[in-house]
Amino acid sequence: MLDRRAFLATAAALLPARAATEPFRHRGYLGWITDLATRPDTCADWPSMRIDGALVRDYERTFTLMQRLGYNEITVWGFYVARSWPVDIASAVSPERGRLVERILRAAHRHGIRVYSGLGVYSWGFDEIIKANPHLANGNPHAMCPGVSDSWKWMQRVVDYVFTRFPIDGVSMQSADQGRCQCEECKPLTDAEYHSRLNIRVAEYIRAAYPGKTVAANGWGMRLGDARSPESVDRLSAHVDYIVDALDTARAENPAQRARLIRGARCPFGAIGGPQVEPPQHWPRDRWFLPTVRQQGQHLAELYREGGRACEYFFHILANPGCEISFWTTGKILSEPATPWRKHFRAALEEVYAPAGSAFVGDLEELFLQAEDAYFSRCASVRSGTISLEPLVSNRPGKPVYLEKINPGERAACRAHLAALQTRASRLAAAAPHAGAARRLRFSARALGNAIRALDSLSA
Ligand SMILES: [Zn+2]
Repeated sequence: MLDRRAFLATAAALLPARAATEPFRHRGYLGWITDLATRPDTCADWPSMRIDGALVRDYERTFTLMQRLGYNEITVWGFYVARSWPVDIASAVSPERGRLVERILRAAHRHGIRVYSGLGVYSWGFDEIIKANPHLANGNPHAMCPGVSDSWKWMQRVVDYVFTRFPIDGVSMQSADQGRCQCEECKPLTDAEYHSRLNIRVAEYIRAAYPGKTVAANGWGMRLGDARSPESVDRLSAHVDYIVDALDTARAENPAQRARLIRGARCPFGAIGGPQVEPPQHWPRDRWFLPTVRQQGQHLAELYREGGRACEYFFHILANPGCEISFWTTGKILSEPATPWRKHFRAALEEVYAPAGSAFVGDLEELFLQAEDAYFSRCASVRSGTISLEPLVSNRPGKPVYLEKINPGERAACRAHLAALQTRASRLAAAAPHAGAARRLRFSARALGNAIRALDSLSA
């Protein structure tokens, strides 16, 4: 039996270890409703609202994996509307759509995943309402002016519908993506002040009307790097469950600012987790091969070291093996951030492709990391954010704009690199230990070939 001194010594030895293995509190997954679809929606306006049995099955597979990998939350934009609420709000969701969304929610809950809806705050979703009620806006056709009292009534109507139509577990609010009101009354407020006031107003309303729901603030479109941002973020942090500086703007503008925000915040703070592939809505799924495991691994390790404990990782298309492995690796990192990302990456490869300890895993590591480096070592660094493979807002398959970011003088070297990797992927497919691994590697070889053709199309 341990005496008291030995017990205390043991407890002291355990404490730092326990603190060091604390996971990210918010291990979230974020995207538009079809952003994880196996099938592209080739000719639909972005964001696609197509919801059907195939998409529900994609969600079921995703939730199974999320639970296995340790993700605990998902934020979905597009349960209700795409870019605009109808003026009567309630006609947004047809009975049939409602039944499909409910199936997604039930599947998430079966797997212990909390579901949040994306929520536009005073902007994003209000265009039709503003058209029908022009007095709500003061200059920006996409944003209601918070100084107009009717704006608040419309905001409340939307919140009430969102929480009563579906049994969601919370919302991830965004107020900044479509800009803000710049009228004489609003103009003197800094961005951080303006947006934090709006988010606090809505968060307080939700707290009172819908207790127990999670309320998060996502700063997509906000810049948190200036000297006056910390006091606004500190204030906001007392009213929400977590804050995500999606594009890591605080640190981009001022290297010390993110750590300062994290220290001052009374709730977990984070980002979307480094540069990652934006799901191309219109493209066949074998058009690209761009894993981002190193980018994510390094980004999340730094965020964690600074005290960040929240992440809304962007949706990935699991049908594409490059994106699949990024999703696997990130789930493991968020759950066990004290373990080096390389270990998580290797574990993911072992689970998806090959038995532990086999030499095959080392070859796979090289394939994925080199494909990542072939791209990222040749373009300007992206700190955190989504990389558009095709132009985002469109209604048809677009040109490969991500490849235009490669320094033109290095395109030939990039092409040669990808060609060597394509050969390697085909060779590995032939030696794969099981059918699932062989299928993924053949897919990867094809995707690398298509990326090479896309690169050629730029120079043609
Ligand atoms: Zn205004």
